[in-house]
Amino acid sequence: MSTSAMQHQTSDKPAAGGCGEQMHALMRELFPLHRSQTGAGVRQSLQLLQRVVPLEVNEVESGTPVFGWTVPDEWTIRDAWIKDAQGRRLVDYQQSNLHVVGTSQGIRETMTFAELRPHLHSLPEHPEWIPYRTNHFQEGWGFCLSDSQLDQLRQAGPDAEYEVCIDAEMQPGSLSYGELLLPGETDEQVLVSTHICHPSLANDNLSGIVVAAYLAAQLQQAPRRLSYRFLFLPATIGPIAWLALNRDVIPHIHHGLVLACLGDSGPVTYKRSRRSRQSRAAVDQAVELVLRDRGTPHEIREFSPTGYDERQYCSPGFDLPVGRLTRTPNGEFAEYHTSADNLEFVQPECLADSLDCCLEIIGALEANVTYQNTHPWCEPPLGSAGLYDGYGACDPKRAALQEAVQWVLNFSDRRHSLLDIAQRSSLPLADLHEAAKRLVACELIQQSDQIQP
Ligand code: ZN
Repeated sequence: MSTSAMQHQTSDKPAAGGCGEQMHALMRELFPLHRSQTGAGVRQSLQLLQRVVPLEVNEVESGTPVFGWTVPDEWTIRDAWIKDAQGRRLVDYQQSNLHVVGTSQGIRETMTFAELRPHLHSLPEHPEWIPYRTNHFQEGWGFCLSDSQLDQLRQAGPDAEYEVCIDAEMQPGSLSYGELLLPGETDEQVLVSTHICHPSLANDNLSGIVVAAYLAAQLQQAPRRLSYRFLFLPATIGPIAWLALNRDVIPHIHHGLVLACLGDSGPVTYKRSRRSRQSRAAVDQAVELVLRDRGTPHEIREFSPTGYDERQYCSPGFDLPVGRLTRTPNGEFAEYHTSADNLEFVQPECLADSLDCCLEIIGALEANVTYQNTHPWCEPPLGSAGLYDGYGACDPKRAALQEAVQWVLNFSDRRHSLLDIAQRSSLPLADLHEAAKRLVACELIQQSDQIQP
């Protein structure tokens, strides 16, 4: 998006344009890397993202206590297999990193199928798919394989012997995460957070990663009223560590979005922040108005303390106004956490549409100013300001602008933000934003601090 597109965010639909293909190409490079909570795969992924945005890579030392949790050791995996007596690799880590249960401990033993069986995970309902499993914070090891591979082992009988190897270890190191702060005119920050801990899975969550990276890249080029803080971190322990170690930043977070699962063809689904019941968070208003104005199928959900990293940002001690934007949410598509969540499952046009949606939400937050009417006693004569055509307004665009002008004027009372006016009037936010710009230009309204309604 060009700078001018950002400025006219709410009036002209911005286009992510060719970004869908670019984001998909970046996903293809990221896909084979073996990401986990910690380790080389995460660092390599962050390095790749640095080609798109100047992320700072931060490290939190293993063993660091964070809110009752401990930053884990680093997991390194080199190879893994299950070989039959003839030395053939029946299950091979080189074919897919999903074959090893995440953070498995190292093992090299010969054992019977009966001994091996409790360590094997498959999906009988999808016999060709490999499930994704992790073992975070627990001892043990395991393999994930397709049910048809498991059948092959079953058929050889319980006493058949296999050489089992996971060449892996846990050692003290650090937890890596990426962070980027884009300062704006104000220090009112928008937090954009996405998880980077999943191995070769595309929608969950390379889609969130590439959309966040391209969003950051586009915002970097644009004039910004607000400041933006992007976090690329491992799920759960990442935000827990970040929140514990950045207490001074937290009061500056005024809006936030967790981005995940943004590449499937399902409708955009927004989960409100925890605050939505008591007081409307601007981010909730902004997303809901953008989705309303887009007129495309979408779903709004109430907050629940399950899901992704909104669980940490919206924990009661912080209660940050952070919502979650996905297309089909986690656990609600059959391919979720399986090898079928692959590069074919994620479509470039869906990534582009998700990026557009994020840009529109940012545009709504950027436009969300509270104004004060400088002539609040009756309507000012708008005709002389070129804002009123009387009964002659037959051009529908002019008529819509005129209506928007009247709404903005009437509710620019320091108690209603532009998003409040969009909600109350049911008028498109783009029209109200345009009206506000014109009213500011003829000094009929001026920007103001909001007073508590
Ligand atoms: Zn996941």
